[in-house]
Amino acid sequence: MSNPRLKIDISKIEHNARVLVRRLGTQGISVTGVTKASLGFAPIAAAMCRGGVSGIGDSRLGNLEALQGVGPAKPRDTGPLWLLRSPMLSEASSVVSLADLSSNTELDVISALSNAAIHQVRRHGVVLMIQLGDLREGILPGDLHRFIRQMQRFSGISLQGVGTNLACLSGVVPDARNMAELSSIACSIEKDFAMRLEIVSGGNSANLNWAASSNAMERGRVNNLRLGEAILLGREATERQIVAGLYADAFVLIAEVIEAKQKSVHPRGAIGQPSLSVHAKASAQTSYASNTTRFQSILAIGVQDTDPLGLTAPAGVQILGASSDHLVVETETDCLRVGSEIAFSPDYSALMRAMTSPFVTREIHGGLAMDLGRAAGSKDSEALFAV
Ligand SMILES: *Cc1c(COP(=O)(O)O)cnc(C)c1O
Repeated sequence: MSNPRLKIDISKIEHNARVLVRRLGTQGISVTGVTKASLGFAPIAAAMCRGGVSGIGDSRLGNLEALQGVGPAKPRDTGPLWLLRSPMLSEASSVVSLADLSSNTELDVISALSNAAIHQVRRHGVVLMIQLGDLREGILPGDLHRFIRQMQRFSGISLQGVGTNLACLSGVVPDARNMAELSSIACSIEKDFAMRLEIVSGGNSANLNWAASSNAMERGRVNNLRLGEAILLGREATERQIVAGLYADAFVLIAEVIEAKQKSVHPRGAIGQPSLSVHAKASAQTSYASNTTRFQSILAIGVQDTDPLGLTAPAGVQILGASSDHLVVETETDCLRVGSEIAFSPDYSALMRAMTSPFVTREIHGGLAMDLGRAAGSKDSEALFAV
């Protein structure tokens, strides 16, 4: 296996999906497994499907294209494929052929989807995203009824539901208030248009604490969450706490040491703008005596492979900074050995970059055979999502 490489434990991903599907299922909430951080990697989507997700969502059409025909048992058994980002007008026709439904906020796009669907003799499902405070995508609640009336002209699409996305741009936390707002919007659409909305999608991995603390009345019509990070990394996304009973280590990023030397903590020479580089800690060198050295090692991984600041190093190893191809670390008692492999724990951003970098290879572990029942020692009867 060449380095850097991502070690992926597929059975842990399947386990995480299964636990979340079961817990949220008792609350009347289905789980759409979100694969965008995995570049539409089929083994990961298949693991989510085995774990029981009701469908697969991804923000990029290319990833959904990679998942055509992926499923746990028979071809195309993923459940519906949902394009989570509003389609580009220029891709409307491919959206209709590759996705069963898409999130939408623009009438021009929905019109193009409808035309493409009529042309392909299909119907395309539309989920309208509603703006509830985070200020990324979404139709303003006050515009929604007029929007739906205008949509009724388009015979190639069907309105499958509504959804919202919080926490992604402004960090607005999903809570009882904004979820109640979504639920009441869904109810008013159903009443005014005499229809049933299949999907009322409350959000993403940032919604887990809300889901755990809500009662049935508060959840109201909210019946779906779209989960990526929680399944892949076992964490909810507001405080990044590990969800009880889930694995947070399904992914490990391995990098190899290419240089190990004791070096001065002080750069020598006039300081200009560094080329592409990130620094984990502010230059604290000034507080050191001029002859201070440290154990510095370089690993063959950089900004082209991952998000270096999203890596957690093993104990005793501290990340100093990174450039496009080098990660510089400091160790306490000695340098690392040249040729040795260091295992980092990636956060969502580091994982996404590693999965989408052509320089990072993948080492797959834990196929179907593992006994998932015993894997986590999880106690599902305990507090639903507490740490
Ligand atoms: C990425 C994404 C999700 C999944 O988010 P996670 O935090 O990974 O659970 C859900 N909905 C939309 C619209 C997304 O873009």
